Amino acid sequence: MTIVIPMKAGPDERLRVAARLIREGKLVAFPTETVYGLGADALNEKAVRRIFEAKGRPADNPLIIHIAEREWLFELARDIPEKALELAERFWPGPLTLVLPKGERVPSVTTGGLDTVAVRMPAHPIALELIRLSGRPVAAPSANISGKPSPTDADHVVDDFYGRIECIVDGGPTWIGVESTVLDLTGDVPVLLRPGGLPLEEIEMVVGRVEIHPAVKGVEVDLARAPGMKYKHYSPNAQVIVVEGSRNAVREKIDELVREFRGKGLRVGVMATEEHGADAFFHLGESTEDVARNVFRALRELDKAGVDVIIAEGVEERGLGLAVMNRLRKAAGYRVIRADKLK
Ligand code: AMP
Ligand code: MG
Repeated sequence: MTIVIPMKAGPDERLRVAARLIREGKLVAFPTETVYGLGADALNEKAVRRIFEAKGRPADNPLIIHIAEREWLFELARDIPEKALELAERFWPGPLTLVLPKGERVPSVTTGGLDTVAVRMPAHPIALELIRLSGRPVAAPSANISGKPSPTDADHVVDDFYGRIECIVDGGPTWIGVESTVLDLTGDVPVLLRPGGLPLEEIEMVVGRVEIHPAVKGVEVDLARAPGMKYKHYSPNAQVIVVEGSRNAVREKIDELVREFRGKGLRVGVMATEEHGADAFFHLGESTEDVARNVFRALRELDKAGVDVIIAEGVEERGLGLAVMNRLRKAAGYRVIRADKLK
């Protein structure tokens, strides 16, 4: 049975129920500022195994551990460099995950067998209070079936997990809409493993140059360092196509593609800033922040509309745009059309 706890106005007494479930080794989905997480006690091997089973997640795809107090970091990681402490000081609670050498107490199931551990302190008051009340570090990947778009509202979690996990805390829509930024601090120069809710530009203002892992830009790699990168992600059932380039060229290209696909008898969904005469349309919003907040919802809703093809309008890769384009390209299986290219 799944208990759904509505909590749209912020944390309250009822979170104790969810916190007790975490302590008992059960699975609790909860809102964070990025996306919903599927949480369990990070130090309880059996509970963590159930996260992988419920999601259908490959065992070598490591989980992020969520904490409620900065001090907990020292029990989960070792040899923490000064740069990591500076970043935690500046950006926690917030959408930044730090990858560090793993402490002994963390079971290797939680880190997908790696000797590094990923830790973050979320900023959402419900997440923080739940973790604090449970008194445990909480391992929580995104609360979606593996390979599906990440959940940015409680009904997305209900769609994927109702009846299969013990509890869903409904805190309404998440604020940021893309997952946390993952930064590897185990080498001399920090490496961006996944762009996310904290823009790279802000990190560089604190620690200087950051290397960008090649997988971030869409090169498919098979690397032990960030195993999560090698799996197909965020894919709805429909085929996704991303159109990139300057705004006018992109709009013309989308018009052309919609006509072409509809001419072939296919049902076309468009996620963009204009409707383009598609069979189903999701308005992504004007700012990059709007697009980040809407991108996963758009993929889920267009899928529900039963379209055969989803055409997505690309955004500039600045600020949150880097994360948005990373998610869109993955959802598209790297089927990207550059609208500016000469024919
Ligand atoms: P999710 O929470 O579902 O977005 O997945 C967590 C992601 O964090 C994984 O897919 C990895 O890319 C990343 N991650 C977690 N732990 C590690 C680690 N120890 N080293 C590198 N990346 C990690
Ligand atoms: Mg995920």
